Amino acid sequence: MTKTIIQLDDVSFSYDHSIVLEHISLQVGEGEFWALIGPNGSGKSTLLTIILGLLKPSSGSVKLFGENLESFKDRERIGFVSQKSNSFNSGFPATVFEVVRSGLTSKVGLLKRYSKKDEQKALESLRIVGMDSFATQSIGQLSGGQQQRVFIARALVGEPDLLIMDEPTVGIDQQNVASFYSMLNKLNREHGIAIVLVTHEIDLVTDLATHVACLNRTMHFHGVQSDYNKMDEVDISKWYGHPVRRVHQHAPEVQE
Ligand code: ADP
Repeated sequence: MTKTIIQLDDVSFSYDHSIVLEHISLQVGEGEFWALIGPNGSGKSTLLTIILGLLKPSSGSVKLFGENLESFKDRERIGFVSQKSNSFNSGFPATVFEVVRSGLTSKVGLLKRYSKKDEQKALESLRIVGMDSFATQSIGQLSGGQQQRVFIARALVGEPDLLIMDEPTVGIDQQNVASFYSMLNKLNREHGIAIVLVTHEIDLVTDLATHVACLNRTMHFHGVQSDYNKMDEVDISKWYGHPVRRVHQHAPEVQE
C-alpha cells in the first residue's frame, strides 16, 4: 500500500479575520504527482506554506511522513521551489554549482566545509536536471528556465522524497515550459519523487499529474477536493476558459 507523506485533516486557515482555507482534507501518497489548481487568491500558496510548516493552521492537523508537523524534523525530505526563485541578476556572484551545493547548508551548517560527497551530490543533481554542463557558469547569466532547473537541482541535492513547487514556470518562456514539465515527469517516474505543484498550466500538467486538486472558494466549492469523482461536480473549464483533463492513477480515463 502507498504510504501517505502529506496528510491534512480538516485544515482551516485565516489571515486575521479573513478566511482563506476551510475544512481541507487531503492525502498525498509517496510517488504521487499532484497538480494544485484554482483561481488567483483561492489559497494555493497559503496551503503550500502550511505544508512547509511556515504557517500554522487555525484549526485541523497536518502530518508529514506520518509525523505531526510540530515535531517533524526531517526537513531535507522536502525540497521547495518557488516562483520567485529564478530572479538572479547577471552580476550575482555565485556559480551554478555553488547555488546547488548551498542546498546542503542546513546539513553541513554555515561554517563547515562541504565534503567530496556533497560536491558529487551537487553535480549529480545538476545532471538529473540536464544542467551539468553549466556548473561553472555564473547563475545570473542563465535564462529564467535554466535558472529554474538549477533551483530544482538545489532542491534535489538533499535527496528529498517530495518536491513542492509554487508556479515554477513563471518567468520561463513558453517554448521551454513543455521540456520543463517533461523533466518533472522524469523526476517523478524515474526517481520516484512525489511532486505537489501549484500551476495555471492545467492542460500541460494534467497530462503528467496522477492527481489534481482544485481550490475554489468563488464557486461555493470550499477546500481541496481530493476525491476524483466528486471533482465532476465542479466545471473547472468555466474559470479557465477551456476544457480541463483530469488524470487519476486509478481512473485513467480522461474527462472533458
Ligand atoms: P493563491 O496562491 O491561490 O493565489 P494565496 O494563498 O496567495 O492564493 O492568497 C489567498 C488569499 O489570502 C488572498 O485573498 C490573499 O490576498 C490573502 N493573503 C495572502 N497572503 C496574505 C497575508 N500575508 N496577509 C493577509 N492576507 C493574505
